[in-house]
Amino acid sequence: MKTCVSGWPRIGEGRRLKFAAEDWLAGRIDEKELQTAARNLRLEAWKTMADSGIDEIPSHDFSLYDGMLDLAIRLGAVPRRFLESGARTETELAFAVARGTERLAPWGMKKWFITNYHYIVPELGDDTALGSRRPLAGGEPFFDHWIEASRAGIETLPTLIGPWTFLRLSRYTGKRGLAEFIDSAAEVWSGMVSEARALGIPGLRFEEGALALDVSAEENALFTRLWEPLLDAAGDLRITLGIPFGDIRDSWDAVAALPFDSVALDLADGPGNLDLLRSRGFPKGRELVAGLVNGRNVWALRRDRALETLGELSALVDGPVSLGTSCSLLHVPLSLEGETGLEAALRSRLSFAREKLQELSDTAARAEGASRGLTPLAGAPAILPEAPYRSPPREERRRIQRERFRLPLLPATTIGSFPQTDRVRSLRSAFRSGKIDTQTYDKAIRALVAGCVAFQEEIGLDVLVHGEFERNDMVEFFAERLEGFAFTRHGWVQSYGTRCVKPPIVAGDVSRAKPMTVDLARYAQSLTKKPVKGMLTGPATILAWSFPREDLHPSESAFQIARALREEVQDLESAGISIIQIDEAALREKMPPRKGDREAYLDWATASFRLVHGGVRAETQIHTHMCYSDFSDILQAIDAMDADVISFEAARSGGDLSETLAAAGFKTEAGPGVWDIHSPRVPPAGELTERILSMARSGAAGDGEWVSRLWVNPDCGLKTRGERETGEALRNMAEAVARAREILGRELPARESPEAAS
Ligand code: GLN
Ligand code: ZN
Repeated sequence: MKTCVSGWPRIGEGRRLKFAAEDWLAGRIDEKELQTAARNLRLEAWKTMADSGIDEIPSHDFSLYDGMLDLAIRLGAVPRRFLESGARTETELAFAVARGTERLAPWGMKKWFITNYHYIVPELGDDTALGSRRPLAGGEPFFDHWIEASRAGIETLPTLIGPWTFLRLSRYTGKRGLAEFIDSAAEVWSGMVSEARALGIPGLRFEEGALALDVSAEENALFTRLWEPLLDAAGDLRITLGIPFGDIRDSWDAVAALPFDSVALDLADGPGNLDLLRSRGFPKGRELVAGLVNGRNVWALRRDRALETLGELSALVDGPVSLGTSCSLLHVPLSLEGETGLEAALRSRLSFAREKLQELSDTAARAEGASRGLTPLAGAPAILPEAPYRSPPREERRRIQRERFRLPLLPATTIGSFPQTDRVRSLRSAFRSGKIDTQTYDKAIRALVAGCVAFQEEIGLDVLVHGEFERNDMVEFFAERLEGFAFTRHGWVQSYGTRCVKPPIVAGDVSRAKPMTVDLARYAQSLTKKPVKGMLTGPATILAWSFPREDLHPSESAFQIARALREEVQDLESAGISIIQIDEAALREKMPPRKGDREAYLDWATASFRLVHGGVRAETQIHTHMCYSDFSDILQAIDAMDADVISFEAARSGGDLSETLAAAGFKTEAGPGVWDIHSPRVPPAGELTERILSMARSGAAGDGEWVSRLWVNPDCGLKTRGERETGEALRNMAEAVARAREILGRELPARESPEAAS
């Protein structure tokens, strides 16, 4: 049985690509050296796969920054402003578009389907002409990497982002939309296919993950209109259609009707594909690549189950069946080698990219003689425990809490973290490496907390934070303190461009052995009469930024984490912490891309959040925070989290969000962020005052009730910012709040004063 891999981790051992790119950006090496490093990484990857006996080895999955970006550049879809920005090579151009220049804002970045990788979103405008015309002189031929591999004696299958996915994921900045680009795209990609034929490339594979999104009937028609001429142009060149990241329920017929030589289906994230195969059959004579080896998770393949499925598929499919990865292996770490810190029992259950190659070869070899029987359908989904709403209900709690805290109009607060200066970082790493003892470390952290609290008091914020100096990362911090998580030494995966993350692994049942944040929270609260927020990360976010288990439905792990956090919440409350913030930064981003799958996800995600805080007293105020500005479609779900207050990112959408909230009758008190913490710019107090006033006035005219539900805070945590700019920005924010209170105070008494309402 043939084995197929659709992509490989680009960063290489020891994150070599990241460091080479950073060296080049800093001028320590020139572009030629960067390209040599990149070429070596590619050759190594191909050799690794060839040595493992993989039959279909991908090329063209490599990129110095991002594949969507590279494609846009190679199709000449980059706006003139970037071409005139002084970039001399395609690589310089790519980094300029991805990171922006002094004068040009970069293209946006978005999550790549259901992965934690982020791609650069191409912007197609009315003057964009797709073509094979390369924008800068000296560009390599389109199939340069395939040529490179053949010269090294390795036969590869160019594995490219498909035209539908490219168009579907781009942003249209002018009047022309996706439909207006279909015909020119068909022409350009047909040209690409002809070029491949001319070079003697035997086959191409196109990854069309966008078919795993919601696809309407019109979109299926456009997909067909795009692909028909392309398949015509292909002639005897073999075309494989790969669809990673889910099943193709909406496009089954469209795909079956087109003469693809081979279709690679995701059977890890798209179990629905199996049901489709069973009920609809597979077009005669075509090859099916069964994507059973999960490219998105770190667990070893359950070989017996895979063999059963392969047996069933061989019976169902009238044509060759091959074994493949569900998606590119870009999303898992490179190798288990060197992970000597992991328990042997756990290690034997894991599989990273290199180990997955072995799984492919072994399983395919055994499948040759496998049975052709039918296997029963997969087991029923898990039944969730109940997570009742907190008692008493929101409005009653609100009255009790107003009585307790007596906060002014527009209470001012921050999201939690304060700048993580070099000093803070080196303190933590000194402690980690054992250079300083626990006592010295704790003392130093407490000094930082004391300084942070004093500063917030001095500038007059109303609800304070301790600054999170003891935390490197909001997920890792908790994962390290909870039972049930495992950590790798080198398990890096690319998040975007040169940024890599090392997610924890949910390796067993999660529970809490002892309090995690209580001592420091108690200490911070002892320094001031104002409330200091206890600060936790919520279950959906901890799970979203970890590798999840495969033997449990994610909701079950979320509930385990929630129960552990609930104990922490209870302990914080007992320690005298009156406000507890539970961040759900990733709740929105993990929402399934298909509308029909969202309700089930939101149900368990919000239920697990309610489980965390559902046991506190009425007078304890629960906050949450989310990093994302587009909430319009999940406002009800946020209310269903039953928090008392939420802060979120909003600076870039201005007063609009506040208007949306007011119009939707949003019930949770809200702090739409008033300044963008992603930029070092210090917003002047006048500008912040205007923003706050516009938020306050976006409720129904003169609605004192709406104003009384508003909080003022920045967009997100401040840990990536510098100390000076943060200090100035926070002072400006406090000053702006004072001014806004004064102005609104003059406007409101005539109507209904929120103070009088309580
Ligand atoms: N409390 C965290 C912080 O302030 C929240 C971070 C986040 O939302 N990503 O850093
Ligand atoms: Zn945030």
